[in-house]
Amino acid sequence: MEKTDAREEKILVLVRLRPPNQKEIAANEPTEDWECLNDTTILYRRNTLRQSSNFPSAYSFDRVYGGECPTRHVYENGTKDIALSVVKGINCSIFAYGQTSSGKTYTMSAITEFAVADIFDYIFQHEERAFSVKFSAIEIYNEAIRDLLSSDGTSLRLRDDPEKGTVVEKATEETLRDWNHLKDLLSVCEAQRKIGETSLNERSSRSHQIIKLTVESSAREFLDKENSTTLMASVNFIDLAGSERASPAMSAGARLKEGCHINRSLLTLGTVIRKLSKGRQGHINFRDSKLTRILQPCLGGNSRTAIICTLSPARSHVELTRNTLLFACCAK
Ligand code: ADP
Ligand code: MG
Repeated sequence: MEKTDAREEKILVLVRLRPPNQKEIAANEPTEDWECLNDTTILYRRNTLRQSSNFPSAYSFDRVYGGECPTRHVYENGTKDIALSVVKGINCSIFAYGQTSSGKTYTMSAITEFAVADIFDYIFQHEERAFSVKFSAIEIYNEAIRDLLSSDGTSLRLRDDPEKGTVVEKATEETLRDWNHLKDLLSVCEAQRKIGETSLNERSSRSHQIIKLTVESSAREFLDKENSTTLMASVNFIDLAGSERASPAMSAGARLKEGCHINRSLLTLGTVIRKLSKGRQGHINFRDSKLTRILQPCLGGNSRTAIICTLSPARSHVELTRNTLLFACCAK
């Protein structure tokens, strides 16, 4: 089995601009300010912002996807290769980063389903190996970890395992049978997320959701040494808290007024990603937040990462959109 050496691979940075939504259309909100020039460059067309004269007009990334681009294409073109490397024993993570309402959940939930379908396809096409796929799902809300497959509501603890690194203690793991089973588990997670005193929208703006698949395989027959090795790796699909939770645009005044809090995990993730973009070696402070502790095995070392930065086209969101692009620039 070929094995890619992912150690020196850069983080893949993808940018997705969503189409205007009904609310924006009904309110006659201007939504033409951003334009995807080609596959890699997004333009800000209205460079007249008085408060930010140094605001550049063109931003380039590994890929940019415009409002008409279907999620299937984003998946095939940008993330399929990374997600599927899990079957070859390489840890990987796919993040959705962006302000609330920019399309993180829309993008990530479809990508998760496409990837699982492809992982099962791969398994059926490789009968020479015996595979097992385990599914788990957690939410990090106010630095507390909750199991989205269990209704008991207690927070899960992190433990340092000498072999596996940081593990989420007692997180439910289900052996995934097929695609329908995935759909069932995803609806359990969805129902769990709805429980709680805050509205789902409020909650999803503050919480991170991590869906993790662990794929293990070994050769059915030990024909040659190469194929006899057991491979195990995880792929994480991460729907992050709204990026406004780590945004300098959220001034102290606005924060007080709206009772908003800076999200520690999101802030630390930003620092970690910036350091990783300069190389996966060297000291990186994964331990500063729950999110980065949990994801450490899939971010450091021999792993592959894609970040999909989602953007709202609305003029009223321009500051947050710009912050997302600045984050995206730091990650590449
Ligand atoms: P977030 O998770 O970032 O808060 P959502 O994924 O919930 O945002 O998206 C907000 C709204 O916009 C939803 O109604 C969603 O269906 C819609 N939407 C987001 N991205 C797209 C897209 N690329 N194409 C069409 N509709 C989208
Ligand atoms: Mg969401």
